[in-house]
Amino acid sequence: LPYGRVWNFAAGPSTLPVSVLEEVQRDLLNYKGHGMSIMEMSHRSKEYGKIIGDAEATLRRILNVPDNYSVLFMQGGGTGEFAAAYLNLFASKAVSEKQRRLGRQLSCDYLVTGKWSKGGLKEVARLGGKPNAVFDGVVSNTEAEPSVSYGSLPPVSSWKLGRPEETAFVYYCENETIHGVEMPSDLVLDAVDPSVPVICDMSSNMLSRPVDISRFGAIIAGAQKNMGPAGVTLVIVRKDLLERDDSDKEAIQRLPSVLDWRYFDKAGSMPHTPPTFSIYVCGLVFKWAEEQGGLEVLQKLREARAKLVYNMIDAHPDFFHGPVDKRYRSAMNIVFNLPTPELEAQFLADAAKRNIIQLKGHRSLGGIRVSLYNAMPLEGAIEFVAFMKDFYNEHHN
Ligand code: PLP
Repeated sequence: LPYGRVWNFAAGPSTLPVSVLEEVQRDLLNYKGHGMSIMEMSHRSKEYGKIIGDAEATLRRILNVPDNYSVLFMQGGGTGEFAAAYLNLFASKAVSEKQRRLGRQLSCDYLVTGKWSKGGLKEVARLGGKPNAVFDGVVSNTEAEPSVSYGSLPPVSSWKLGRPEETAFVYYCENETIHGVEMPSDLVLDAVDPSVPVICDMSSNMLSRPVDISRFGAIIAGAQKNMGPAGVTLVIVRKDLLERDDSDKEAIQRLPSVLDWRYFDKAGSMPHTPPTFSIYVCGLVFKWAEEQGGLEVLQKLREARAKLVYNMIDAHPDFFHGPVDKRYRSAMNIVFNLPTPELEAQFLADAAKRNIIQLKGHRSLGGIRVSLYNAMPLEGAIEFVAFMKDFYNEHHN
């Protein structure tokens, strides 16, 4: 690999395209002849205005963002947006009016498919909201003790969605990075009453496939997996949800400026100093994605990478145990177990000897996790699967 690099299968921050890093390297000392680093440039300069403007324009093209949606570059990560989604929606005119009609606080529906959607729900509870778990994992009664797991989704017919007139929004996480569970957007969008806005956390599968933005109320995504370095968070929000009923002072008073979508929208994402470097790198990644042929091409690649790994898992189910329901297997984060924890430790150590790193499952789950984001070339997946095969040959009975 160039520059002594390794195959980095981290769940995030994760690998970036080498051509992007090379351009960053050139711009680090002297940004395109301006005599200063990209990191040293004022966010109020003409040059930087063009950088952030181009980043937004390219993103709008590749994602086909309709004109009635705002694109915001914010800070605070996915976690910041757990709070922001709730606080902004409850400060919106639409929710204020609905609450006035109902005469009490609306609830909000959370589909709990894993740790990250649960994190969104917990944040709402912490802020005094009324989150309703539409479901919380899959409850299995097949054993003596009922158990809850996050390897699948319960059938739509069993979801306990609130009544539309009592619900502010429905929230879900489309790719649970830790559990390796990913679902098609339509599964949720088709189940929800069209009058209720759907908020989606796409932190770990954003830009990996085309999305029909027009069906969402808002999409939130930390950049550090598929889009760029940590530090910037993307929000795409339908503009009518930014309208406020200024008489509803309480909801607005609870909303800090740094999480206020409308405040960012009005100031072109720069009401205060933005994470200039991270946004600049994201802009280069968006351009890179466009040059690859856009999201249809990136989708084909993501399916090809994931298929290689899942085929290997399925070929040796006695050795590689994939716990996720095949219908909801993630193409971005593939989790599996080996027969013993000792073999898993050996797997990580042997992989490292072949420059294949960051395969350890999340600390809450253990096992192996291989993350295959946009910037991972197909060769990376081929290399990993060749290692799986060799390890299998050496260690299976
Ligand atoms: N949502 C998802 C799907 C994630 O994978 C993560 C982090 O890995 C988060 C939210 C939290 O993001 P952050 O660490 O940027 O707060």
